[in-house]
Amino acid sequence: MNQQESQKVGNGILQTALHNFDEAARRLNLDEGLKGKILEPKERIELSLSPTLSNGQVTNIKAFVVRHNDVLGPAKGGIRMTPDVTLDDVTGLAMEMTWKTSVIGVPFGGGKSGIRIDPSTLSPEVKETIVRSFTRGARRHIGPEIYVPAPDMGTNELDMARIRDCISYSEAISITDGCYVTGKPVIFGGVAGRREATGKGVIHTVLAMCKKLDMPLEGLRVAVQGFGNVGSVAACDIAGYGAKIVAASDITGAVAAPDGLDVVALAKHVEETGSILGLAGTKEIDPGQVLEAECDVLIPAATQSQITRENADRITARIVAEGANAPTTPEADEILNQRGVLVIPDILCNAGGVFVSYLEYTQETQREQMTIEAVERRLAERMTQRFHDVYDLGQREGLSLRDAAMNLGVSRVVEGVLTRGLLP
Ligand code: GLU
Repeated sequence: MNQQESQKVGNGILQTALHNFDEAARRLNLDEGLKGKILEPKERIELSLSPTLSNGQVTNIKAFVVRHNDVLGPAKGGIRMTPDVTLDDVTGLAMEMTWKTSVIGVPFGGGKSGIRIDPSTLSPEVKETIVRSFTRGARRHIGPEIYVPAPDMGTNELDMARIRDCISYSEAISITDGCYVTGKPVIFGGVAGRREATGKGVIHTVLAMCKKLDMPLEGLRVAVQGFGNVGSVAACDIAGYGAKIVAASDITGAVAAPDGLDVVALAKHVEETGSILGLAGTKEIDPGQVLEAECDVLIPAATQSQITRENADRITARIVAEGANAPTTPEADEILNQRGVLVIPDILCNAGGVFVSYLEYTQETQREQMTIEAVERRLAERMTQRFHDVYDLGQREGLSLRDAAMNLGVSRVVEGVLTRGLLP
Protein backbone atom coordinates (compact mmCIF):
# COMPACT_ATOMS: atom_id res chain seq x y z
CA MET A 1 0.00 0.00 0.00
CA ASN A 2 1.48 3.35 -0.98
CA GLN A 3 0.37 6.87 -1.78
CA GLN A 4 0.03 6.14 -5.48
CA GLU A 5 -2.27 3.19 -4.85
CA SER A 6 -4.41 5.22 -2.49
CA GLN A 7 -4.57 8.14 -4.93
CA LYS A 8 -6.04 5.78 -7.52
CA VAL A 9 -9.05 5.28 -5.32
CA GLY A 10 -9.09 8.98 -4.42
CA ASN A 11 -9.33 8.30 -0.74
CA GLY A 12 -9.05 11.38 1.51
CA ILE A 13 -8.47 9.71 4.84
CA LEU A 14 -5.94 7.12 3.74
CA GLN A 15 -4.04 9.64 1.65
CA THR A 16 -3.81 12.02 4.59
CA ALA A 17 -2.74 9.22 6.95
CA LEU A 18 -0.07 7.96 4.52
CA HIS A 19 1.24 11.46 3.94
CA ASN A 20 1.51 12.20 7.65
CA PHE A 21 3.23 8.88 8.30
CA ASP A 22 5.70 9.30 5.41
CA GLU A 23 6.71 12.69 6.71
CA ALA A 24 7.19 11.35 10.24
CA ALA A 25 9.22 8.37 8.98
CA ARG A 26 11.46 10.79 7.06
CA ARG A 27 11.96 13.06 10.07
CA LEU A 28 12.69 10.06 12.31
CA ASN A 29 15.03 8.49 9.74
CA LEU A 30 13.24 5.13 9.82
CA ASP A 31 14.84 2.53 7.58
CA GLU A 32 12.62 0.95 4.92
CA GLY A 33 12.18 -2.40 6.71
CA LEU A 34 11.05 -0.87 9.97
CA LYS A 35 8.92 1.66 8.12
CA GLY A 36 7.10 -1.12 6.25
CA LYS A 37 6.60 -3.10 9.43
CA ILE A 38 4.92 -0.15 11.09
CA LEU A 39 3.01 1.10 8.05
CA GLU A 40 1.39 -2.10 6.79
CA PRO A 41 -1.85 -3.14 8.54
CA LYS A 42 -1.68 -6.48 10.33
CA GLU A 43 -5.08 -7.44 9.01
CA ARG A 44 -7.58 -5.94 6.53
CA ILE A 45 -10.85 -7.82 6.45
CA GLU A 46 -13.80 -7.35 4.14
CA LEU A 47 -17.04 -8.95 5.34
CA SER A 48 -20.27 -9.54 3.45
CA LEU A 49 -23.23 -9.29 5.80
CA SER A 50 -26.56 -10.65 4.58
CA PRO A 51 -29.00 -10.41 7.48
CA THR A 52 -32.65 -11.28 6.97
CA LEU A 53 -34.79 -8.41 8.17
CA SER A 54 -38.08 -8.77 10.04
CA ASN A 55 -40.03 -8.31 6.77
CA GLY A 56 -38.29 -11.39 5.37
CA GLN A 57 -36.09 -9.38 3.03
CA VAL A 58 -32.38 -10.29 2.81
CA THR A 59 -30.10 -7.30 2.66
CA ASN A 60 -26.46 -7.30 1.49
CA ILE A 61 -24.04 -4.99 3.26
CA LYS A 62 -20.27 -4.66 3.08
CA ALA A 63 -18.35 -4.30 6.32
CA PHE A 64 -14.67 -3.92 7.12
CA VAL A 65 -12.33 -4.55 10.03
CA VAL A 66 -8.75 -3.35 10.03
CA ARG A 67 -6.20 -4.11 12.70
CA HIS A 68 -3.45 -1.75 11.80
CA ASN A 69 -1.01 -2.31 14.63
CA ASP A 70 -0.91 -4.09 17.98
CA VAL A 71 2.64 -3.50 19.14
CA LEU A 72 1.58 -1.47 22.18
CA GLY A 73 -1.58 -3.46 22.92
CA PRO A 74 -4.84 -4.76 21.40
CA ALA A 75 -6.12 -2.76 18.44
CA LYS A 76 -8.57 -0.05 19.50
CA GLY A 77 -10.92 2.06 17.45
CA GLY A 78 -14.53 2.72 16.60
CA ILE A 79 -17.07 1.35 14.15
CA ARG A 80 -18.06 3.82 11.45
CA MET A 81 -21.47 3.36 9.85
CA THR A 82 -21.87 5.54 6.76
CA PRO A 83 -23.23 4.87 3.25
CA ASP A 84 -19.88 5.37 1.56
CA VAL A 85 -17.24 4.03 3.97
CA THR A 86 -14.53 2.03 2.19
CA LEU A 87 -11.85 -0.44 3.23
CA ASP A 88 -9.29 2.28 2.51
CA ASP A 89 -11.08 4.76 4.78
CA VAL A 90 -11.09 2.18 7.54
CA THR A 91 -7.38 1.51 6.95
CA GLY A 92 -6.52 5.21 7.18
CA LEU A 93 -8.62 5.60 10.32
CA ALA A 94 -7.06 2.47 11.90
CA MET A 95 -3.61 3.89 11.18
CA GLU A 96 -4.61 7.15 12.86
CA MET A 97 -5.76 5.16 15.90
CA THR A 98 -2.28 3.60 16.17
CA TRP A 99 -0.69 7.04 16.57
CA LYS A 100 -3.58 8.35 18.69
CA THR A 101 -3.39 5.60 21.33
CA SER A 102 0.38 5.99 21.32
CA VAL A 103 0.30 9.79 21.73
CA ILE A 104 -2.26 9.68 24.52
CA GLY A 105 -0.25 6.91 26.18
CA VAL A 106 -2.74 4.06 26.58
CA PRO A 107 -1.66 0.42 26.09
CA PHE A 108 -3.55 -0.12 22.85
CA GLY A 109 -2.78 -0.36 19.17
CA GLY A 110 -4.88 0.94 16.31
CA GLY A 111 -7.91 -0.57 14.61
CA LYS A 112 -11.19 0.47 13.05
CA SER A 113 -14.33 -1.02 11.51
CA GLY A 114 -16.78 0.17 8.90
CA ILE A 115 -20.31 -0.85 8.00
CA ARG A 116 -21.43 0.54 4.66
CA ILE A 117 -25.00 1.72 5.18
CA ASP A 118 -26.74 4.99 6.01
CA PRO A 119 -27.91 4.67 9.64
CA SER A 120 -30.43 7.51 9.22
CA THR A 121 -32.47 5.26 6.91
CA LEU A 122 -32.71 2.42 9.43
CA SER A 123 -35.39 1.71 12.01
CA PRO A 124 -33.99 0.81 15.47
CA GLU A 125 -34.88 -2.87 14.86
CA VAL A 126 -33.12 -3.02 11.49
CA LYS A 127 -30.06 -1.25 12.88
CA GLU A 128 -29.90 -3.75 15.72
CA THR A 129 -30.12 -6.65 13.27
CA ILE A 130 -27.28 -5.20 11.21
CA VAL A 131 -25.10 -4.54 14.27
CA ARG A 132 -25.67 -8.12 15.47
CA SER A 133 -24.93 -9.43 11.99
CA PHE A 134 -21.68 -7.42 11.96
CA THR A 135 -20.75 -8.80 15.38
CA ARG A 136 -21.28 -12.35 14.20
CA GLY A 137 -19.26 -11.73 11.04
CA ALA A 138 -16.42 -9.95 12.83
CA ARG A 139 -16.47 -12.11 15.97
CA ARG A 140 -13.13 -13.82 15.31
CA HIS A 141 -11.44 -10.44 15.04
CA ILE A 142 -12.88 -8.95 18.24
CA GLY A 143 -11.64 -9.61 21.78
CA PRO A 144 -9.96 -7.97 24.78
CA GLU A 145 -6.55 -9.08 23.52
CA ILE A 146 -7.26 -8.64 19.78
CA TYR A 147 -9.43 -5.68 18.80
CA VAL A 148 -11.82 -3.73 21.00
CA PRO A 149 -14.38 -1.65 19.05
CA ALA A 150 -16.16 1.51 20.23
CA PRO A 151 -18.61 4.02 18.74
CA ASP A 152 -17.62 6.19 15.81
CA MET A 153 -19.61 8.15 13.25
CA GLY A 154 -23.07 6.57 12.85
CA THR A 155 -22.87 4.25 15.85
CA ASN A 156 -23.68 4.83 19.52
CA GLU A 157 -23.86 3.39 23.03
CA LEU A 158 -26.84 1.19 22.28
CA ASP A 159 -25.06 -0.39 19.32
CA MET A 160 -22.11 -1.18 21.62
CA ALA A 161 -24.53 -2.78 24.11
CA ARG A 162 -25.85 -4.99 21.30
CA ILE A 163 -22.33 -6.07 20.37
CA ARG A 164 -21.57 -6.99 23.96
CA ASP A 165 -24.90 -8.78 24.33
CA CYS A 166 -24.42 -10.66 21.07
CA ILE A 167 -21.09 -12.03 22.32
CA SER A 168 -22.30 -13.01 25.80
CA TYR A 169 -25.61 -14.36 24.41
CA SER A 170 -23.88 -16.70 22.00
CA GLU A 171 -21.77 -18.03 24.85
CA ALA A 172 -24.76 -18.24 27.23
CA ILE A 173 -23.05 -16.12 29.87
CA SER A 174 -24.18 -12.92 31.57
CA ILE A 175 -20.92 -11.02 31.41
CA THR A 176 -17.85 -11.48 29.29
CA ASP A 177 -14.44 -12.19 30.71
CA GLY A 178 -12.72 -8.89 30.02
CA CYS A 179 -13.73 -5.96 27.84
CA TYR A 180 -14.84 -6.74 24.28
CA VAL A 181 -16.21 -3.32 23.39
CA THR A 182 -16.13 0.18 24.93
CA GLY A 183 -18.59 3.07 24.81
CA LYS A 184 -21.33 0.90 26.32
CA PRO A 185 -24.20 2.37 28.36
CA VAL A 186 -23.26 2.71 32.05
CA ILE A 187 -25.98 0.23 33.05
CA PHE A 188 -24.25 -2.38 30.92
CA GLY A 189 -20.61 -2.05 31.96
CA GLY A 190 -19.88 1.36 30.44
CA VAL A 191 -17.95 4.04 32.27
CA ALA A 192 -19.56 7.33 33.27
CA GLY A 193 -18.52 10.22 31.03
CA ARG A 194 -17.43 8.17 28.00
CA ARG A 195 -19.97 9.78 25.66
CA GLU A 196 -18.80 13.31 26.50
CA ALA A 197 -15.11 12.40 26.67
CA THR A 198 -14.09 13.25 23.09
CA GLY A 199 -15.74 16.70 23.12
CA LYS A 200 -14.46 17.53 26.59
CA GLY A 201 -10.99 16.31 25.66
CA VAL A 202 -10.97 18.66 22.65
CA ILE A 203 -11.64 21.58 25.00
CA HIS A 204 -8.87 20.56 27.41
CA THR A 205 -6.40 20.94 24.54
CA VAL A 206 -7.97 24.27 23.48
CA LEU A 207 -7.72 25.60 27.04
CA ALA A 208 -4.07 24.59 27.25
CA MET A 209 -3.36 26.24 23.87
CA CYS A 210 -5.15 29.47 24.86
CA LYS A 211 -3.12 29.62 28.05
CA LYS A 212 0.10 29.34 26.04
CA LEU A 213 -1.06 32.20 23.81
CA ASP A 214 -2.45 34.31 26.66
CA MET A 215 -5.84 34.30 24.95
CA PRO A 216 -8.64 35.05 27.43
CA LEU A 217 -11.54 32.61 27.37
CA GLU A 218 -14.12 35.27 28.13
CA GLY A 219 -15.54 36.34 24.80
CA LEU A 220 -13.37 33.90 22.79
CA ARG A 221 -15.13 33.42 19.44
CA VAL A 222 -15.56 29.76 18.51
CA ALA A 223 -17.03 28.19 15.34
CA VAL A 224 -18.01 24.52 15.34
CA GLN A 225 -18.49 22.43 12.20
CA GLY A 226 -20.46 19.31 13.15
CA PHE A 227 -22.83 19.66 16.09
CA GLY A 228 -22.93 15.93 16.86
CA ASN A 229 -21.57 13.99 19.79
CA VAL A 230 -18.15 15.68 19.67
CA GLY A 231 -19.02 19.19 18.45
CA SER A 232 -22.05 19.85 20.65
CA VAL A 233 -20.29 18.70 23.84
CA ALA A 234 -17.21 20.77 22.95
CA ALA A 235 -19.38 23.83 22.23
CA CYS A 236 -21.34 23.57 25.49
CA ASP A 237 -18.17 22.96 27.46
CA ILE A 238 -16.23 25.95 26.15
CA ALA A 239 -19.31 28.20 26.36
CA GLY A 240 -19.23 27.41 30.09
CA TYR A 241 -15.86 29.19 30.26
CA GLY A 242 -17.34 32.35 28.75
CA ALA A 243 -16.57 31.67 25.08
CA LYS A 244 -19.07 32.72 22.39
CA ILE A 245 -20.13 30.14 19.80
CA VAL A 246 -20.49 32.34 16.73
CA ALA A 247 -21.48 29.65 14.19
CA ALA A 248 -22.32 25.96 14.16
CA SER A 249 -23.45 23.42 11.60
CA ASP A 250 -24.71 19.88 11.33
CA ILE A 251 -25.74 17.68 8.43
CA THR A 252 -29.01 19.63 8.00
CA GLY A 253 -27.50 23.14 7.76
CA ALA A 254 -25.79 25.91 9.70
CA VAL A 255 -26.70 28.74 12.06
CA ALA A 256 -25.12 31.84 13.54
CA ALA A 257 -26.08 34.44 16.12
CA PRO A 258 -24.44 37.87 16.39
CA ASP A 259 -23.94 37.69 20.16
CA GLY A 260 -23.19 34.00 20.25
CA LEU A 261 -25.51 31.00 20.11
CA ASP A 262 -27.23 29.69 23.21
CA VAL A 263 -25.58 26.30 22.73
CA VAL A 264 -27.35 24.54 25.56
CA ALA A 265 -30.71 25.50 24.04
CA LEU A 266 -29.35 24.57 20.61
CA ALA A 267 -28.25 21.11 21.78
CA LYS A 268 -31.73 20.56 23.25
CA HIS A 269 -33.34 21.77 20.03
CA VAL A 270 -31.21 19.36 17.97
CA GLU A 271 -32.14 16.49 20.27
CA GLU A 272 -35.84 17.29 19.97
CA THR A 273 -36.07 18.14 16.26
CA GLY A 274 -33.11 16.31 14.71
CA SER A 275 -31.91 19.56 13.11
CA ILE A 276 -29.77 22.54 14.03
CA LEU A 277 -32.09 24.82 12.05
CA GLY A 278 -35.08 26.72 13.34
CA LEU A 279 -34.20 27.74 16.90
CA ALA A 280 -35.54 31.22 17.69
CA GLY A 281 -32.82 33.87 17.81
CA THR A 282 -30.54 32.08 15.35
CA LYS A 283 -29.89 32.99 11.73
CA GLU A 284 -29.49 30.34 9.03
CA ILE A 285 -26.20 30.63 7.14
CA ASP A 286 -24.51 28.69 4.37
CA PRO A 287 -22.75 25.60 5.89
CA GLY A 288 -19.51 26.54 4.08
CA GLN A 289 -19.45 29.81 6.04
CA VAL A 290 -18.87 28.03 9.35
CA LEU A 291 -15.26 27.12 8.54
CA GLU A 292 -14.64 30.66 7.33
CA ALA A 293 -16.53 32.44 10.14
CA GLU A 294 -14.73 35.31 11.91
CA CYS A 295 -13.49 33.50 15.01
CA ASP A 296 -10.52 32.75 17.26
CA VAL A 297 -11.00 29.00 17.47
CA LEU A 298 -12.37 26.70 14.79
CA ILE A 299 -13.44 23.18 15.75
CA PRO A 300 -13.95 20.95 12.70
CA ALA A 301 -15.89 18.09 14.29
CA ALA A 302 -17.82 16.77 11.30
CA THR A 303 -15.91 14.51 8.97
CA GLN A 304 -12.71 14.11 6.94
CA SER A 305 -11.16 16.42 4.33
CA GLN A 306 -13.15 19.56 5.15
CA ILE A 307 -10.29 22.05 5.29
CA THR A 308 -8.73 21.88 1.85
CA ARG A 309 -6.45 23.98 -0.32
CA GLU A 310 -9.62 25.69 -1.63
CA ASN A 311 -10.69 27.16 1.72
CA ALA A 312 -7.55 27.07 3.93
CA ASP A 313 -6.66 30.65 2.96
CA ARG A 314 -10.00 31.93 4.14
CA ILE A 315 -9.87 30.46 7.63
CA THR A 316 -9.64 33.32 10.12
CA ALA A 317 -9.18 31.29 13.32
CA ARG A 318 -5.90 31.45 15.23
CA ILE A 319 -6.43 27.91 16.54
CA VAL A 320 -7.92 24.93 14.68
CA ALA A 321 -8.85 22.09 17.05
CA GLU A 322 -9.45 18.88 15.10
CA GLY A 323 -12.44 17.20 16.74
CA ALA A 324 -13.01 15.01 13.67
CA ASN A 325 -10.52 12.51 12.28
CA ALA A 326 -8.46 13.83 9.35
CA PRO A 327 -10.51 17.01 8.73
CA THR A 328 -7.50 18.81 7.20
CA THR A 329 -5.88 17.69 3.95
CA PRO A 330 -2.05 17.81 3.77
CA GLU A 331 -2.13 20.75 1.31
CA ALA A 332 -4.41 22.71 3.61
CA ASP A 333 -2.22 21.83 6.58
CA GLU A 334 0.75 23.39 4.84
CA ILE A 335 -1.20 26.57 4.04
CA LEU A 336 -2.39 26.87 7.64
CA ASN A 337 1.15 26.35 8.94
CA GLN A 338 2.53 29.02 6.64
CA ARG A 339 -0.16 31.40 7.81
CA GLY A 340 0.73 30.75 11.45
CA VAL A 341 -2.60 29.07 12.27
CA LEU A 342 -2.05 26.63 15.14
CA VAL A 343 -3.61 23.26 14.36
CA ILE A 344 -4.14 20.92 17.32
CA PRO A 345 -4.00 17.62 15.41
CA ASP A 346 -6.72 14.98 15.62
CA ILE A 347 -4.45 12.30 17.09
CA LEU A 348 -4.03 14.54 20.15
CA CYS A 349 -7.11 16.76 20.09
CA ASN A 350 -9.81 14.07 19.88
CA ALA A 351 -7.97 11.39 21.86
CA GLY A 352 -10.15 11.94 24.95
CA GLY A 353 -12.62 9.35 23.67
CA VAL A 354 -10.11 6.57 23.42
CA PHE A 355 -8.51 7.61 26.71
CA VAL A 356 -11.83 7.13 28.53
CA SER A 357 -12.34 3.91 26.56
CA TYR A 358 -9.14 2.78 28.25
CA LEU A 359 -10.68 3.63 31.65
CA GLU A 360 -13.74 1.57 30.69
CA TYR A 361 -11.50 -1.30 29.62
CA THR A 362 -9.63 -1.32 32.92
CA GLN A 363 -12.85 -0.86 34.93
CA GLU A 364 -14.39 -3.89 33.27
CA THR A 365 -11.25 -6.00 33.48
CA GLN A 366 -10.99 -5.31 37.20
CA ARG A 367 -14.78 -5.45 37.79
CA GLU A 368 -14.51 -1.99 39.31
CA GLN A 369 -16.69 1.11 39.16
CA MET A 370 -15.32 4.57 38.49
CA THR A 371 -17.11 7.76 39.45
CA ILE A 372 -17.74 10.51 36.92
CA GLU A 373 -15.50 12.78 39.01
CA ALA A 374 -12.59 10.35 38.77
CA VAL A 375 -13.10 9.92 35.01
CA GLU A 376 -13.24 13.68 34.38
CA ARG A 377 -10.21 14.36 36.56
CA ARG A 378 -8.13 11.70 34.79
CA LEU A 379 -9.28 12.92 31.39
CA ALA A 380 -8.33 16.52 32.21
CA GLU A 381 -4.95 15.48 33.58
CA ARG A 382 -4.05 13.25 30.67
CA MET A 383 -5.19 15.60 27.89
CA THR A 384 -3.36 18.54 29.44
CA GLN A 385 -0.21 16.57 30.14
CA ARG A 386 -0.02 15.10 26.62
CA PHE A 387 -0.78 18.50 25.09
CA HIS A 388 2.26 19.89 26.92
CA ASP A 389 4.43 16.93 25.91
CA VAL A 390 3.55 17.53 22.26
CA TYR A 391 3.83 21.31 22.53
CA ASP A 392 7.24 21.15 24.24
CA LEU A 393 8.56 18.66 21.69
CA GLY A 394 7.39 21.00 18.92
CA GLN A 395 9.15 23.96 20.55
CA ARG A 396 12.37 22.00 21.09
CA GLU A 397 12.54 20.64 17.56
CA GLY A 398 10.89 23.48 15.65
CA LEU A 399 7.91 21.33 14.58
CA SER A 400 4.23 22.06 14.13
CA LEU A 401 1.93 20.43 16.68
CA ARG A 402 0.92 17.82 14.09
CA ASP A 403 4.51 16.95 13.26
CA ALA A 404 5.44 16.81 16.94
CA ALA A 405 2.43 14.58 17.72
CA MET A 406 3.27 12.27 14.79
CA ASN A 407 6.93 12.09 15.88
CA LEU A 408 5.86 11.19 19.40
CA GLY A 409 3.20 8.68 18.27
CA VAL A 410 5.37 6.92 15.71
CA SER A 411 8.51 6.85 17.85
CA ARG A 412 6.66 5.18 20.75
CA VAL A 413 5.48 2.47 18.34
CA VAL A 414 9.06 2.08 17.04
CA GLU A 415 10.26 1.76 20.63
CA GLY A 416 7.60 -0.89 21.18
CA VAL A 417 8.75 -2.85 18.12
CA LEU A 418 12.39 -2.70 19.19
CA THR A 419 11.52 -3.64 22.77
CA ARG A 420 9.46 -6.64 21.68
CA GLY A 421 12.20 -7.64 19.23
CA LEU A 422 11.95 -7.45 15.47
CA LEU A 423 10.76 -11.02 14.88
CA PRO A 424 8.48 -12.39 13.61
N1 GLU B 1 -14.04 6.46 17.49
C1 GLU B 1 -13.24 7.16 18.44
C2 GLU B 1 -11.97 7.68 17.81
O1 GLU B 1 -11.88 7.85 16.62
C3 GLU B 1 -13.01 6.37 19.72
C4 GLU B 1 -12.26 5.10 19.60
C5 GLU B 1 -12.24 4.24 20.86
O2 GLU B 1 -12.67 4.68 21.90
O3 GLU B 1 -11.79 3.11 20.73
O4 GLU B 1 -11.04 8.02 18.49
